[in-house]
Amino acid sequence: MSRKTFLQTLSACCLVLPALSFAQQAEKGPIVIQGAMPIEAEHFAQRLDNPKEEQIGGWRFWRGTVDGYPVIVSETLKGMSNSAAATAIAATQFHPVAIINQGTAGGHDPALKVYDIVLGKYSVNLGAFKTPHKLKGEGSDSTQWKPMDLLASKGSAGEDKNPHTIRKFPADSQLLAVAESVKSTYSKGKVVEGVIGSADIWDSELDRISHFHTSYQTSAEEMETASAAQIAATFNIPFVGIRVLSNNITNDGKYDPQTGLACQDYVYQVVKAYIAKMPSR
Ligand code: SAH
Repeated sequence: MSRKTFLQTLSACCLVLPALSFAQQAEKGPIVIQGAMPIEAEHFAQRLDNPKEEQIGGWRFWRGTVDGYPVIVSETLKGMSNSAAATAIAATQFHPVAIINQGTAGGHDPALKVYDIVLGKYSVNLGAFKTPHKLKGEGSDSTQWKPMDLLASKGSAGEDKNPHTIRKFPADSQLLAVAESVKSTYSKGKVVEGVIGSADIWDSELDRISHFHTSYQTSAEEMETASAAQIAATFNIPFVGIRVLSNNITNDGKYDPQTGLACQDYVYQVVKAYIAKMPSR
């Protein structure tokens, strides 16, 4: 090989090799599993092979593998702000190929029992509303409030063109299909597709719950999914929310924290199935 050809070949390699290793890295991006409370995250972390705990700010992450594929468990902490921040940290630090937000929820649908699992075909923010104008002494009725779209970045949030529709954060169709595909592994309750509503609110007013169920078709409420879904969508990361009912006051379903463990076991099956379906395997 002449010196000139050698140099040409070398420079071509220098251009191509980094691109290749980037593609390989991108393909190997981890799956991130989010849980708000220790009881919603630690059980999954214990099922990882070779888990290593890492702290970033106030948030704990466990990096490990499932069937040889990288999986990171993220303890988001409770509520919309914490879960948004934990999702942004995961997106920028780990470049995940998928994010699953899972944990406990309160039922809005009287047909669902404690231990039933909701696969979120989409989630909605139940904390973003506009109140009607009322005079002093006219009181307050949250069932009269209209949804406010926080993603309509132009103009006033209070003057949306279409104030009666609620913003939906859809699940990734492939993740949802895989979550459906392992239904038969679950024996503690039903697994259904539904709508997850999220806000920094614990609702115990049956009229308000029924209003959400009728107006926005919510199956269950909790405090993280819609927020994590919004941030995952902004980073273009495939996302799904999977929630087990730990309580349901619409049918006297008493709170049972052990449901959080059952949900993690279900999501473990989802993760295994997702990994098995990856094209490179
Ligand atoms: N029991 C606490 C609040 C717990 S926050 C208190 O009274 O201070 C509850 C956590 O469980 C959140 O992370 C939320 O996602 C989930 N959750 C379970 N059932 C819920 C419900 N009915 N409403 C709202 N969040 C619920």
